[in-house]
Amino acid sequence: MSTSISRAHDARSIRTLLILGASGDLTGRLLLPGVARLVASGRAGDLTLVGAGSDAWTAEQWLQRVDECFNPAHDGATNGGAEALDAVRASTSYHQVDVTAPGELAALLATLPAPIAVYFALPPAVSQAACAALQASDLPEGTRLVMEKPFGSSEESARELNRLLAQLVPEDHIHRVDHFLGKSTVFNILGLRFANRLFEPLWNSENVESVEIIFDEDLALENRARYYDHAGALRDMIQSHLLQIMALVAMEPPATLGEQDVRDGIATALRAASINPARTRRARYTAGSINGREVADYTAEQGVDPALDTETLAEVEVSINNWRWASVPFILRSGKALGRARKEAIVTFKPVPHLPTGFHGTDSPTRLHIGFGPDTLQLDLDVNGPGDLFTLNKAHLLANLSGDPLLPYGEVLDGVLNADPLLSVRGDTAELCWKLVDPTLAAWARNEVPLESYPAGSTGPADWPSSSEKD
Ligand code: NDP
Repeated sequence: MSTSISRAHDARSIRTLLILGASGDLTGRLLLPGVARLVASGRAGDLTLVGAGSDAWTAEQWLQRVDECFNPAHDGATNGGAEALDAVRASTSYHQVDVTAPGELAALLATLPAPIAVYFALPPAVSQAACAALQASDLPEGTRLVMEKPFGSSEESARELNRLLAQLVPEDHIHRVDHFLGKSTVFNILGLRFANRLFEPLWNSENVESVEIIFDEDLALENRARYYDHAGALRDMIQSHLLQIMALVAMEPPATLGEQDVRDGIATALRAASINPARTRRARYTAGSINGREVADYTAEQGVDPALDTETLAEVEVSINNWRWASVPFILRSGKALGRARKEAIVTFKPVPHLPTGFHGTDSPTRLHIGFGPDTLQLDLDVNGPGDLFTLNKAHLLANLSGDPLLPYGEVLDGVLNADPLLSVRGDTAELCWKLVDPTLAAWARNEVPLESYPAGSTGPADWPSSSEKD
C-alpha cells in the first residue's frame, strides 16, 4: 500500500481551517455548509474555524453566518455530531485582514494553532497577490494552501502561479479545488471501470465508437455576469471539470487508489490529449423559455458586455493520441439555459461485426451512461421482443451509485484536513488543462469559429450532433 493511502487514515493533522474571504458568496453558500457536514460527521477532528476578510465584521456577524450554515447540520446530526458542531462554533473567530498587505496575513497565521489549512476563497487576483505577499518562513510547519478555481487563466499564468506556490509549500501541501471531482464520482468511475471484468477489455478503440461528456445546465446566467461574462463555458467548465472527468474515463488502470497512482494516470491521459480548434463549436443563448420560465437573451442580462462574444455553450472534440484511444473522439460539451439538465458521460460502443440476417427493428448501439450528481449508471442493450422475437428493442438497465453524505465541499475539505491530495488537481495537470484549451481560446478570439445561437430552453443549436438526446 502506498504511503499516501496510509496517510489518509492517519490522525487529522490540520488544527485550524482559516477561510480568507469569509464574507464572500463561496464561503456562505458552499464552503461553510461543507464544513458543517464534515464536522457533524466526526471527520474534522479537533478543528478551530477562523474567518478572515477585509470587512470590519463583528464577532456576532461571523457567528450569525456560521450558525446559518451549521444549524441545518445540527438538526440532523447524530452520534456526537451536534457536540462537535457546538465545539467548533464556540471557538470560532473572525479577523479583519487585508491579505494583500505585507505582513498582515503572516501576523494572523502566527497566532493560530498549527498546522493550518489556508483556504483562499478570494477573487483569483487577490489570492495571487496574497500568496505573493507571503514568505515560506511566514507559514507554520505543515501549512496547506487551498486554491479555488480558476487556477490561472492560461498555461503561462498557471505555471507562474505554480512557481509562486512552490516557493511557499511542497506540491503535496497544495490543494487546487475541483469540487466536481467529489470522492464518490471519482471512486464510482474507477470502481465501475476497474472492478468489473466486463468493461475493461472493451474500453478501447477496437470497441468504442465515441465518448461524450455532457454538462448541460437548465439554469441561465443567474446574476453571475461579473464572473461568467469574462469566463464562458469553455473556461468555466470544460477547461477544468470536464477534462478531469475525461481523464478518469480514459486513464490506464492505476495499481492503487493512492493519490500518486491516480493523479499520475490522470496526467498521463491529459498529456496524450489534443484539441483541434477547427473541431470546436460555440454558441450563446437567445431569449426563450425553460420549463415555463421566461429567460431573456443572454446579451440583455445585467452586466453582460455583448462585445465580449462570451459563449454560453461550448463543445470540443478531444483526441487522445495513444494506443488505447487513437481515432476515438471524446466530445466534451457544457452550456447554460438548456431545456434539460444533463450531466453524464456516454460511452457508445461500435456495432457488432455482423447482425444475423433476420433480425429487424432497432439496431442501436450499446451505450453506457454514467450520470453525475446523483451518480447513476445506465446500460442500453438491444433485446428481443416484446411480441415478435425477431424484432430488436432497446432495454435500459439502471442502477443508482452510492454518493457520499458529505456535500462536495465537505469531501474537498475532508481531503485537505486529512492530508490527502487525491481530489486536488496536481500542478502539472492544472497547466496541462490550460495547454489543451489555449489554442481554441486564441482561435475563438480571432473569430475563426463562428458564435452560433440557440433559444433558451432548447437542446442547443439544432445542427450540433450533441444536441440530440441519446437514450
Ligand atoms: P466574492 O466576491 O463573493 O467574495 C470574495 C471575498 O474576498 C469577499 O469576502 C471579500 O471581502 C474578500 N476579499 C477581497 N479582497 C480582499 C482582501 N484584499 N483581503 C481580504 N479579503 C478580501 O467571491 P466568491 O466567493 O464568489 O468567489 C471566491 C473564489 O471562489 C473565486 O476564486 C471564485 O472563482 C471561486 N469559486 C466561486 C464559486 C461560487 O459559486 N461563488 C464556485 C466555484 C469557485 P470584501 O467583500 O470585504 O472585499
